[in-house]
Amino acid sequence: MDDAVSSRKETIASEEETLASQEETLASEEEPLASEEETVSSRYDRSRASDPLRATPDVALYRRAMSRPCGRHLAALADTIVACRACPRLVAWRERVASEKVRRFREHDYWGRPVPGFGDPHARLIILGLAPGAHGANRTGRVFTGDRSGDFLYAALHRAGFANQGASSARDDGLVLRDAFITLAVRCAPPDNAPQPAEIRRCAPFLDAELDALPSSRVILALGAIAWNAAIDRMVRRGAVAPRPRPRFAHGAELVVPGAPPLLGSYHVSQQNTQTGRLTPAMFDAVLRRAKTFASA
Ligand code: SF4
Repeated sequence: MDDAVSSRKETIASEEETLASQEETLASEEEPLASEEETVSSRYDRSRASDPLRATPDVALYRRAMSRPCGRHLAALADTIVACRACPRLVAWRERVASEKVRRFREHDYWGRPVPGFGDPHARLIILGLAPGAHGANRTGRVFTGDRSGDFLYAALHRAGFANQGASSARDDGLVLRDAFITLAVRCAPPDNAPQPAEIRRCAPFLDAELDALPSSRVILALGAIAWNAAIDRMVRRGAVAPRPRPRFAHGAELVVPGAPPLLGSYHVSQQNTQTGRLTPAMFDAVLRRAKTFASA
């Protein structure tokens, strides 16, 4: 009888040990997620003292997406990008714009820092823009958000089924992208929207890291000549051989080379192009349809 009791006690002890060890494993698996969520959260907490974003559905969706493996990588990368101060001219400019503001946004709390990419971590379509708009992304902290370029772009993405809404006014506006990710060649607002070649080169590792963290990417849509060239430079850095002479940017241009996602070109969605009729909604819709074809191939 004593033997039976003793053996039962041993079994219970061993079961308890197994349970404890399973709990430890579970805790250690949960730790990175908690720490990533803290990182994402702290990124937004730093933006203003009483940030309303933490309670919005937008952030809940963002965190859910970012809790998946490639999303976690992107979130950690976003922290690094947001903290960058490597280009003195651009740091001075983005902060000056953020402190001086323009009259219509004088009550706004400008972001005034580098802007990371935004969208679906499993996107097949990657849209590559130039740099944050001084009073758009440099104000709101999200790419193409809060200015006319963004109004044009997100309306088109909504029509094409890549966005849940056509409006993009602030980081907490509920916008969610599906199968599309938007990023930039340069993360800080440049004077006159004109980054210098050395600044583009300095920022390129962020572009590379973000694109590397998007495992499902199938096609890159470059908005304008600088983004087009930045995408080709990136292809070459990743080992693809670009044709010589280098294909020039044009609206509707396509570049397909082995070892890299196909590259499409479109006029930039800037006001100068959309208000003059150089780029119309119909023209941009056609480019997105072409991009969808490559994404589904
Ligand atoms: S442009 Fe890029 S490299 Fe230069 S300061 Fe901004 S984030 Fe850093």
